[in-house]
Amino acid sequence: MSPIAPRLLVWYDQHAATLPWRGTPDPYRVWLSEIMLQQTQVETVKAYYTRFLQAYPQITALAAAPLDDVLKLWEGLGYYSRARNLHKTARIIAYDMDGRFPQTVEALQQLPGIGRYTAGAIASIAFGVRAPVLDGNVTRVFARLLDLSDDTTQPATKTMLWARAESWLPHQRVGDYNQALMELGRTVCKPRQPLCHECPVQAQCKAFANDTQALRPVKKKRQPVPHYDVTAGLIWHDDGRLLIAQRPLDGLLGGLWEFPGGKAEDGETLPACLRRELREELAIEVEVGDLFTVVRHGFTHFKITLHAFTCRYLGGIPQKIGVHDWAWVSPDDLRRYSFGKADRAVIDELENRRNMLL
Ligand code: SF4
Repeated sequence: MSPIAPRLLVWYDQHAATLPWRGTPDPYRVWLSEIMLQQTQVETVKAYYTRFLQAYPQITALAAAPLDDVLKLWEGLGYYSRARNLHKTARIIAYDMDGRFPQTVEALQQLPGIGRYTAGAIASIAFGVRAPVLDGNVTRVFARLLDLSDDTTQPATKTMLWARAESWLPHQRVGDYNQALMELGRTVCKPRQPLCHECPVQAQCKAFANDTQALRPVKKKRQPVPHYDVTAGLIWHDDGRLLIAQRPLDGLLGGLWEFPGGKAEDGETLPACLRRELREELAIEVEVGDLFTVVRHGFTHFKITLHAFTCRYLGGIPQKIGVHDWAWVSPDDLRRYSFGKADRAVIDELENRRNMLL
């Protein structure tokens, strides 16, 4: 018998937020929303989710779309491997599985981009399978309910929490229960200053009883985030076009376009770094001119300062050595390609300056 499910479900019936992906057991919609919600706030996801469904109302439409179009629609949502995996999984389900989602956690976890949490969410919400979920929000709720002093980032603690999440599952309405847990973590049992006076499971909460909410969950201290100086070239052809490159499909920002360049090595000047990167990745020669703009950007595990230089193309037909593809494009066409956030800031600056000249 779950000690929290009855109260949690009553609370959910009264307080569940209206969200575009709620109220449907359609696995395609559940999957799409769960992938978008990984690492991303609900408010940000709403607009993306709606646009995505308009473009690809069924999984077959997503499977048939070119990856570039999918990445373009994903632009700004970050963590682009999610979009690439979404596309791969859509193709597997549409073409190898007759358009039908697997219904078990084990089978769902075989698909690209679907881990234990997402598999549990799809299985429980779309198919009513008694499968637990444990993301950051739910971990926090459980760590407080149990007043857990163990480090929740440790594998042994995670294993214990998964087991607890499983043993507390109700026999009915498991999808609603999982969504209620996630929502409780998001809106009531918040990381800072949880709203315990509004909490439906306050009576079951050991951290509340011991006044230790602020100390839970226990997580080991994060290492300082490294910083890198990165160069990028706005490489102008004599005919007024710019050279852009598509990053390799795997890895950070895979498949996105960028102004080519790369990370400065110790002791290397920024112009020397840019010339070296362009030789190594595209086999071209440029004359590095003025610093055009500087953009600061943070990723999950590091930060960068992007130094974008105006460059003049001297020669060498671009080769696909360290890039997936390359293209000469007019400045007006840049927005047709999907770029990461830092490169889009460079494009914004480029457009500002062109508008000032008009
Ligand atoms: Fe979280 Fe407070 Fe509810 Fe405990 S009582 S689960 S700390 S909101």
